[in-house]
Amino acid sequence: MSTAIGFIGVGTMGGTMVRNLLKAGHRVTVYDLHAEAAEALVEHGATVAGSAREAAAAGDVVISMLPASRHVVAAMFGADGIIAGLQPGTLVIEMSTIDPGTSRRVAEAVEAAGSRMIDAPVSGGDKGAIAGTLTIMVGGDPGVLGEVRDILGAMGTNIIHCGPIGMGETVKLCNNLILGVSMVAIAEGFALGIRAGVDPKLLYDVLSKSTGRSWALESRPPVAGLVADSPANDDFAPGFMTDLMHKDLGLALTAGNELKVPLAVTALAHQLYGMTSAQGFGRKDFSAVAKLLEGLGER
Ligand code: NAD
Repeated sequence: MSTAIGFIGVGTMGGTMVRNLLKAGHRVTVYDLHAEAAEALVEHGATVAGSAREAAAAGDVVISMLPASRHVVAAMFGADGIIAGLQPGTLVIEMSTIDPGTSRRVAEAVEAAGSRMIDAPVSGGDKGAIAGTLTIMVGGDPGVLGEVRDILGAMGTNIIHCGPIGMGETVKLCNNLILGVSMVAIAEGFALGIRAGVDPKLLYDVLSKSTGRSWALESRPPVAGLVADSPANDDFAPGFMTDLMHKDLGLALTAGNELKVPLAVTALAHQLYGMTSAQGFGRKDFSAVAKLLEGLGER
């Protein structure tokens, strides 16, 4: 069934997710502060709106895919925001990775406007977004999930209900905590091996067949030329930006503080991504944490 969808935030992830929605036959109206990102989708069949409110008003379903909590708050509220454009009964799917508390507050405002919202952050990276194979972690009313499952199915293959509103975000933060820490470990393993004189190709071949194997290793080893499409092959072009990983580990630490769960290794990894960003790699792929470690190791 073709649904009218308003889509706000069409960057690395949102842009490819919109292309998959269009391929599945949905009618999509897009808005992004970066006008070129929205215009680039016109040739794929999207309509461009002049504001978040206008994009929301054009949809029976509204999807947002924005960088961080503050962007979601900015896009949702205000005279030209998403909530101002909602019609009674519109379903909102908030897919950004943000803190669960913000997700719950936004959902309350959406409900006060006569609509319903689920949180539905994703995993799978830009490649998963392109292939339409994202894992989608859903928090909120399972009834709303049932109503939008086909739409989510155009963007992802594993669609998992995780609990009440905000719980999709909580599960996503657990995932990115593990991913962010893993990437630091990979960068350290390569830094040590290379300094000791091991050929990086040999190191990769062994690690990818050993217990150090992981998605992070196989999708973004920090040395150019080891696997096709690794960010390292293209001067660490994202992919998933260092600043976004830094944000996600910060969110995990906040959740850990609130729940009194010590996250010692996460805290260290968070600082390392902050340092990577301060070194000028904030908008590079997060595997650029290897560049920071290389620099620290220079004599
Ligand atoms: P991105 O920065 O490439 O895209 C975000 C877009 O939102 C940009 O085009 C920006 O102009 C737009 N934007 C910001 N504020 C806006 C506003 N108020 N109104 C309209 N548009 C606005 O980021 P991304 O990589 O697409 O990530 C989006 C979200 O998905 C983040 O929360 C990220 O953590 C999460 N995520 C990313 C990946 C990945 O691999 N890139 C994977 C999983 C989850």
